[in-house]
Amino acid sequence: MKTELLAKLMPSSLDISTYGSKNHNAITTEDILIKLSYSKLTENEYNFILAKFLNDDSCRSSVYKNLIKEVHEEFGKEGVNHLVCRFVEVAIMECILTRCPFCNGTGFNVFKTTISKCPHCNNGEFIYDDNVRANLIGITLKKFKKERNKYDRVLELLNEIEINALSKIDS
Ligand SMILES: [Zn+2]
Repeated sequence: MKTELLAKLMPSSLDISTYGSKNHNAITTEDILIKLSYSKLTENEYNFILAKFLNDDSCRSSVYKNLIKEVHEEFGKEGVNHLVCRFVEVAIMECILTRCPFCNGTGFNVFKTTISKCPHCNNGEFIYDDNVRANLIGITLKKFKKERNKYDRVLELLNEIEINALSKIDS
């Protein structure tokens, strides 16, 4: 996924075959920022992409603040409590940190002379199931299931941001 996106982010006018052999495959942060600047992303979309693909922490906290604001409007004042803030944090993690930490995104575990498929991911994309989510949030699975419509809504808002951003970058 990451390489696909980076390919999309490559400035289309840049013909790498005309460049010298050294570093001609290197995509720099500037290349990405230039491409993004032409993509007419909203501030939120821009922050999301930078948070996800360039691991920018300040962009990630902007995404967080903005999402809290949106959730505030949707759930009403009483709706945004400590738990919902944790939902937002974990949902952002789920959307941004997709590489499996157990196999380092390879999809396989190597142990001495044996190789086995990593049980925590799909080809290196970490599986966030409800157990993982409840654990990260710091609540029981039962409590998570009771409140999950809010979590799903937060996730939906984040997915919208990503889908819109990627389609703008792609066009
Ligand atoms: Zn894995």
